Amino acid sequence: MSYKNFPMVPRVIFGRGCINQLNEILSPNRMNVKAPFIFLVDDVFKGKSSITSKIPLSYNDKIIYVSAKEEPKTSQVDELVEQIILTTNERPSGIIGIGGGSVLDIAKAVSIMLTNEGNTSDYQGWDLVKNPAIYHVGIPTISGTGAEVSRTTVLTGPKLKLGINSDFTTFDQVILDPELTKNVPNTQWFYTGMDCYIHCIESLNGTYLNTFSQSYGEKALDLCKEIYVENTLSKSDAQDKLMMASWHGGMSTAYSQVGVAHAMSYGLSFLLGTKHGIGNCIVFNHLEEFYPEGVKLFKQMKKLHNIELPHGICANLSDDEFDVMIDVAIGLEPLWENAVGKDWRKSITRKKLKNLYQKM
Ligand code: NAD
Ligand code: ZN
Repeated sequence: MSYKNFPMVPRVIFGRGCINQLNEILSPNRMNVKAPFIFLVDDVFKGKSSITSKIPLSYNDKIIYVSAKEEPKTSQVDELVEQIILTTNERPSGIIGIGGGSVLDIAKAVSIMLTNEGNTSDYQGWDLVKNPAIYHVGIPTISGTGAEVSRTTVLTGPKLKLGINSDFTTFDQVILDPELTKNVPNTQWFYTGMDCYIHCIESLNGTYLNTFSQSYGEKALDLCKEIYVENTLSKSDAQDKLMMASWHGGMSTAYSQVGVAHAMSYGLSFLLGTKHGIGNCIVFNHLEEFYPEGVKLFKQMKKLHNIELPHGICANLSDDEFDVMIDVAIGLEPLWENAVGKDWRKSITRKKLKNLYQKM
């Protein structure tokens, strides 16, 4: 038996208002005055001084606003890297991503592609990155994905939606300031928070489960229940706790895997552009067969928070389109093996996946 030796985020700061220490955290990492820090910031914060006033710009540092309207694409990363190379004299001192899972993933990918040749899509897969990324910092502004701790950056490429899974992907520094999440719209708070909940359910019910993953997964699940089921926390406690739930959920899946909801929602996202959080919810809602307890509680939470999921999103798809989704989903072998076991191919047939998609 050979065990995986995973990197973790080596530095993390947690606390309400801790983003005010950004300058003191970044300064020692500046290579020289010509090597700027590049801030990739969710464009939802454009003109919002509550965030932009916290970004310490000196010398040639700059902010590039990035849209999170669509799932991150490899072509988008290629363009950003090109833009950065063309507009800076020297390789940047660091990339700082400020936003949700989308912007965090883009920041990770850009920091990798500044030191690795070719196209971003060349590195989608497991352990294909050759050179260490440049210094990169993640500052989440919405909690749930675990992208702040994970060793992957999930990207849609020309052929697949697949992560760049690499030891070099993990952030060098993470800044966990729960205050930054205060303006997240309610539905998005639910969808992204449920990503964390689903990470826990998939990890805790997977065949890859081990004590490392279990201990993080159970903690994250307890926090999710406090936030979404018991529903008695103050706003700020709920923000603090969801930020830590996201962290623990990410740690849990790092040493195990996600499962059926993720595999199938990658298919939806690849074909229809369905975003991760809502896509996971749409799929998970139909997975009683795999996760009976988890789905039951999910439905309860959905009701408690008055969430109406879209349905009929696959109603008018052609057979070819179903095939595209099924190809993406079924290609995620480790997810199925985790969910169902080594013999997963016996029960997870294309027909079964089509039936499930047709219900959505
Ligand atoms: P997101 O980054 O897509 O953002 C969702 C929406 O919330 C956007 O409209 C964004 O502008 C807005 N938003 C973010 N912060 C806000 C704030 N403070 N106030 C108001 N609006 C705010 O959402 P997400 O669910 O965090 O991320 C989804 C992405 O994360 C997907 O692309 C998915 O593939 C990826 N993901 C990555 C990992 C990983 O380990 N790398 C894990 C899970 C998901
Ligand atoms: Zn997820």
